Amino acid sequence: MNVLVINCGSSSLKYQLINADSEEVLAKGLCERIGIDGGMHTYQPKGSDKIKTDIDMPSHTEAVQIVLDALTDPEKGVIKSLSEIDAVGHRIVHGGEKFSKSVVIDDDVLAAIEECNDLAPLHNPANLIGVNSCKKLMPNVPMVAVFDTAFHQTMPPKAFLYGIPYGYYKKYKVRRYGFHGTSHEYVANRTAQFLGKDIKDMKIIVCHLGNGASISAVKGGKCVDTSMGLTPLEGLIMGTRSGDIDPAILEFIAGKEDLSFKEMLTVLNKKSGVLGLSDGVSSDFRDLSEAAKSGNEQAATALETYAYHVAKYIGSYVAAMNGVDAITFTAGVGENNISAREEICSYLTYLGTELDPKKNEVRGEEAIISKDGSKVPLLVIPTDEEMSIAKQTVALVC
Ligand code: ADP
Repeated sequence: MNVLVINCGSSSLKYQLINADSEEVLAKGLCERIGIDGGMHTYQPKGSDKIKTDIDMPSHTEAVQIVLDALTDPEKGVIKSLSEIDAVGHRIVHGGEKFSKSVVIDDDVLAAIEECNDLAPLHNPANLIGVNSCKKLMPNVPMVAVFDTAFHQTMPPKAFLYGIPYGYYKKYKVRRYGFHGTSHEYVANRTAQFLGKDIKDMKIIVCHLGNGASISAVKGGKCVDTSMGLTPLEGLIMGTRSGDIDPAILEFIAGKEDLSFKEMLTVLNKKSGVLGLSDGVSSDFRDLSEAAKSGNEQAATALETYAYHVAKYIGSYVAAMNGVDAITFTAGVGENNISAREEICSYLTYLGTELDPKKNEVRGEEAIISKDGSKVPLLVIPTDEEMSIAKQTVALVC
């Protein structure tokens, strides 16, 4: 069964065509600058190089059409006709409290997603445009919504409530939702499988460390806490996002620099994190590691601060679950950045776990990276959100 997985942003559209039975990625690609001059389509059929084409896409519908044309192209395509696309899986960022699992999209679901728009004004409307564009061009193909927030809906009130007047939760649903749910769920399950254990008996901490980063506490297969909040801004220090700060900082800096709330949020979302901490060196951990190695002290401080915060979160989730049976690293930094893992794990020896420097020299593959005999195994499990979306889609439409 072939599933087209769509991740639609306000001006971009990422996609993969996946054969969910063989777990093969038949093709993948990216449409950029949708609705803006200078559009570009990058398309990569399985086993071939990337093909980049400059092509303007006035709207998302044109972008989806370009994707479908590429997939069915007689020369570079991977399927003969659109009838070979059996279902479409859409990544939807915010499902609010309405969705605790993936669902087949119908008019009621679309309306319910739309009701969550003000919780994710940058993402949900764009996700919906993607759904509607696909519906226009593939009216008879079943579509599924897979929510970033769904896996975290099992959090108890003590984990999802903020210490602010309860009326804001009742009136506006202001609470912790958490994101990267598809990744946390997939990686927690793979962790248990990899260790040959039943997830129902395990307490797992998943560290999804990418450009965006979040961490979750998964007890018995259910999320009991996670670091991102109402929005993806809360929690760990990220590539460009600040993560946790004293909320009073907003007013303080806004006053000093004559910035509006909106401008302050741009600072916290786009100019902070390791980019801001390193005084502008980079948001990319490869650049930061290089800069730190060549003696850039601010880059070194950024990396040190980052690792310290991750370790503190791990400690708090050990407390939340009253123990831990495995700690797993995933996403760009978690899967590939050997020195970041080393620095984070240097804080964890109190748990009776120790990183094995040799085993830690792994990139992008499943592995145990702690020493034999460690009380708590440390692991690397590459995340695969698209494959997970494809499988959830198949499970719902078959
Ligand atoms: P997102 O999906 O949130 O955009 P990713 O999960 O792709 O982010 O992670 C991006 C981060 O992963 C970057 O900071 C990058 O430096 C880091 N990364 C990716 N590959 C490597 C690598 N081989 N070595 C070190 N860091 C890496």
